[in-house]
Amino acid sequence: MLLHRSLTVADGVHFYLWVGQGMNSNSVVLADVLDGDKPHILVDPGMAGSGPGEKALDSLAEAMAGDGLRLEDVGMVIGTHSHPDHYQAVDEVVRRSGALVALSQVEYGFLQGPGKAIYGSFGTDSPSVVPAVLLQEGELKLGSSNGRRIDVLMAPGHTPGSICLYLRETKILVSGDVVFPGGIGRMDFVGGSMSQMKDTISRLAELDIECILPGHSSQAGPLVSGKENVVRNFQMVRMFF
Ligand SMILES: [Zn+2]
Repeated sequence: MLLHRSLTVADGVHFYLWVGQGMNSNSVVLADVLDGDKPHILVDPGMAGSGPGEKALDSLAEAMAGDGLRLEDVGMVIGTHSHPDHYQAVDEVVRRSGALVALSQVEYGFLQGPGKAIYGSFGTDSPSVVPAVLLQEGELKLGSSNGRRIDVLMAPGHTPGSICLYLRETKILVSGDVVFPGGIGRMDFVGGSMSQMKDTISRLAELDIECILPGHSSQAGPLVSGKENVVRNFQMVRMFF
């Protein structure tokens, strides 16, 4: 059963909106950005199974197939952060595709420390895969990358090593659990920080953004589209501080 809804946000930018019942995140696929025969980047694979009978990763693979994209052709999987609902399926994605894993250096340290316990509360083990790429602030080097540029923005607050991805050509922000339509990520989990979140939001608000693709939907909608709506969204969320 399909538990994701596919939205093609821009050429080669596929947003997979989680519409199942269990806890899981949205996913984003950046198609044909890597050299070689596994050209896709998958951001936030989510959970392999999200709840009773919900095979979330199989659903994602099926939704991708509907767009002509094979999970087996993912060459890199990026976690916006290490929370299980975003990152738990990474071992299974690697098993199926052989993808390289990328997580921020700070977040990987967090996952090896206090971040690991969050997996226990989800009733699952933390991923065993070791990231081949430890991300830092700056441009993601992608070989030829078909002319597309992806910037990694360190965005702590929800977790210590959370990142957002900024797609420069399309002005899309893949925001993970940092900013949502009408809201921001929780700061009460281990590793959360209100002061870091405040700085992160101030910084993101300065960017020229046309569309925010969040890690979860909210009551305000699945995404934020249009520059004016993005500006209004940042104005609204800054009132939390
Ligand atoms: Zn999270």
